[in-house]
Amino acid sequence: MQLDESIIRNVVAQVLSEVGPMPNGTATPLSKNVAPGAGRNGVFTDVNEAVAAAKHAHEELRRRSMDERKQVIEIIRRISIDQCEELGLMEMRETGIGRPEHKIEKLKTLGTLAPGTEMLETKAFSGDHGLALIERAPFGVIAAITPVTHSLPTITGNAVSMIAGGNSVVVNPHPSGKKVAAEGVSRFNAAIEAEIGIDNLICVIAEPTLETADTLFAHRDIALICVTGGPAVGRAALRSGKRAIVAGPGNPPVVVDETADLDNAARCIIQGAAYDNNLLCISEKEVFVVDSVFDDMMAAMRRAGALQLDATQIQTLTSQAIAKVGDDQHDAAAKDFIGKDASVLARAAGAHPHEGCELVFGETDEHHPFVTVEQMMPFVPFVRARNVDHAIALAKHYEHGFRHTAIIHSRNVSNMTKMGRELDTTLYIKNGPCTAGLGLGGEGYLSFSIAGPTGEGVTSPNTFTRERRCTMVDELRVI
Ligand code: NAD
Repeated sequence: MQLDESIIRNVVAQVLSEVGPMPNGTATPLSKNVAPGAGRNGVFTDVNEAVAAAKHAHEELRRRSMDERKQVIEIIRRISIDQCEELGLMEMRETGIGRPEHKIEKLKTLGTLAPGTEMLETKAFSGDHGLALIERAPFGVIAAITPVTHSLPTITGNAVSMIAGGNSVVVNPHPSGKKVAAEGVSRFNAAIEAEIGIDNLICVIAEPTLETADTLFAHRDIALICVTGGPAVGRAALRSGKRAIVAGPGNPPVVVDETADLDNAARCIIQGAAYDNNLLCISEKEVFVVDSVFDDMMAAMRRAGALQLDATQIQTLTSQAIAKVGDDQHDAAAKDFIGKDASVLARAAGAHPHEGCELVFGETDEHHPFVTVEQMMPFVPFVRARNVDHAIALAKHYEHGFRHTAIIHSRNVSNMTKMGRELDTTLYIKNGPCTAGLGLGGEGYLSFSIAGPTGEGVTSPNTFTRERRCTMVDELRVI
């Protein structure tokens, strides 16, 4: 059997952690320089080992300069951009949902645009009694949970923000995206260790379960939790007794009023709802159109390249793509259809998709499961509303109070204002695709963890820091 240095280091570290400190504080020569989890490049099966390694990495990062922190982030960016194709396709193969070109693009985009240390804000108060500085300090080791819809992209965005804030992170990924999570994390850490000399800044649990998530949440060295996913994981994080940042589910409604540029609205709805086959939490999920322009809007959708299903075809699709689940037999998106191509949905409906068809759509009533359920597939239901007030009321109702994302297409500023006030969502986009709300074709910065329920909004390095105040009494005000 071949033993390399990293295996020997791990065995020694394990033995030392089990026997505890030597008498009188004397350390064996071997214990010097042996970091917990050294050589593992962030991939662990045991939660306690992962947290110990991430804690050591965080302590090491604290000793380093801001410049080195920036270099770590540059390494993550470089790998996300240079290896986006290989890693994106790996994610596509493993999860089997979404679109390969968007899996690749998401990694590249996060590598390019996720904000780094430049976002950290320092405030100063200067007056007769001297100077107070408020700076952003790290929490320590953060526990993160990531969704199957964007496994490595969420880890990438979280890692950049969290490390920019001076933290390390242990990720419990979705089991269906665990392999690409481990591969990406391993590549990040190997390069960071080679260039900066710190391993395990980003750790991942290679065999994630609900139990490993619970162990991670409860670990005494976890200072903060950040979860990105549906309602169950948000509830679990908030029950943990720790501070939790919850990037929860959405069901983004779109309102189209009689003043809208219908062709632009159609192009935007297709761009947003078809992106990665509607897996984005911010993607357009249902559209409420005022009656006076409803038929024109449907024509605009067809002109823009979407395939319209008739009532029978919608019924046929619904019977397969919406399942009854749970004791109460409530509607939910059927796993076999989540994130599948528009052509798959069209064929299941009995329609004939044209080459390049990205989105299917059709008219339903407001109670239809495609309206009520966060379907995460490229079929978008269109519902007639009597007028804009009715459309806004429906949008508010079917957003389910998540306060996540809402979109309007209108040239009437009063209507825009009314909807913004009524829906009270974290992201509110006017006259663009949903992605404009994340700075892609709109202003602002990017993150794939949008914390609505706990109020942090589009997460950034500041989200993952504590405020610390440092006061100098009566001196250093030099003006
Ligand atoms: P999911 O809720 O099924 O899983 C998300 C993660 O939570 C997974 O890692 C899963 O293993 C874990 N999990 C689930 N229940 C848990 C529990 N009780 N305890 C601990 N961990 C638990 O969601 P998904 O299908 O992976 O992703 C899609 C969902 O995520 C959608 O609802 C979408 O809106 C949401 N989402 C939100 C954002 C955002 O920024 N707000 C971003 C992406 C996805």
